[in-house]
Amino acid sequence: MRVAFVGLGIMGRPMAANLIKAGHEVSVWNRSPGKEVEGARLASTPAEAAQGAEVVWICVSDTAAVEQVLFGPNGIEQSLADGMIIADSSTISPAATRRFAERVGKKGVQYVDSPVTGSKVGAEAGTLLFIVGGEEQAIEKLKPLYAAMGKKIFRMGETGKGQSAKVAMNLQIAMIYEGFAEGLTLAAKLGVDPGTLIPLIHASMVKSGVVEYKSPFVLQRDFTANFPLRLMRKDIGLALEAAKEARVKLPGIETVEEIYEVAMEDGHGDLDFAATLMLLEKWAGVEVKTQAA
Ligand code: NAP
Repeated sequence: MRVAFVGLGIMGRPMAANLIKAGHEVSVWNRSPGKEVEGARLASTPAEAAQGAEVVWICVSDTAAVEQVLFGPNGIEQSLADGMIIADSSTISPAATRRFAERVGKKGVQYVDSPVTGSKVGAEAGTLLFIVGGEEQAIEKLKPLYAAMGKKIFRMGETGKGQSAKVAMNLQIAMIYEGFAEGLTLAAKLGVDPGTLIPLIHASMVKSGVVEYKSPFVLQRDFTANFPLRLMRKDIGLALEAAKEARVKLPGIETVEEIYEVAMEDGHGDLDFAATLMLLEKWAGVEVKTQAA
């Protein structure tokens, strides 16, 4: 298929590379120069990337960025054509997604929100899970592209519901990790080696995919971004915004949001969200460090 890929960050770049590997004809655009994908045509604007494409795939930071690449100067809107499908793998506001879909729908374009879970490692390995909202028939057409970048799709309902589900998922990831980080901090302060504690966690009912994924990074104190803290903070904000609209009270994640705000102030925004641990360590006056390493 002819695919335009807009946004070549941690996630977008390997996703676009996997489309090429699967034999699709791909044009790419990224806001800052210097990011390219081997085998793809490099476009100078989102509109140029989207020109003649059957599918436009977006993967940028946040709601404002999606709005910008769609409707800003030289945006995708200029190249919309009847029958085109837009798939958005950014994690953004469900309400804004519905608005964007309505606007492009007037030009005969279908919009399928397609946020992902699986992080950098899943994007590189082509094993992402897609959390999808949109018309069945549009999703059907996208299936070869989902297959090139991921291992499974979960349809949550109509357009916007993919984002709603994704935001609810990330709320849980943030809280599970926070529980893990607080547990490690307390244990370290009480003199328990994390290298001894973590195998116990994995063997017990406390174990989780989040903890399994983050443990090796924490033990090596490698906080380079797989999923940047600033983006998890954005997702916590999206969850709280959606909760406010739906009149739902979420006191746990409200508290976690405060931790992210202070971690941002401490300059950890571009580190992985696992770096929220560093703030807990600072408050406790302890470092979670194994003697076994
Ligand atoms: P990233 O590495 O920070 O990349 C963000 C991308 O968005 C870059 O290409 C950036 O361009 C572009 N961008 C930001 N603002 C823009 C604007 N105003 N106009 C045009 N382009 C703009 O982030 P990422 O980790 O790839 O994440 C991308 C999306 O996937 C986010 O919504 C994130 O929440 C979601 N996500 C990430 C993960 C993960 O583990 N990393 C997992 C699931 C979902 P520049 O190069 O010019 O900065």
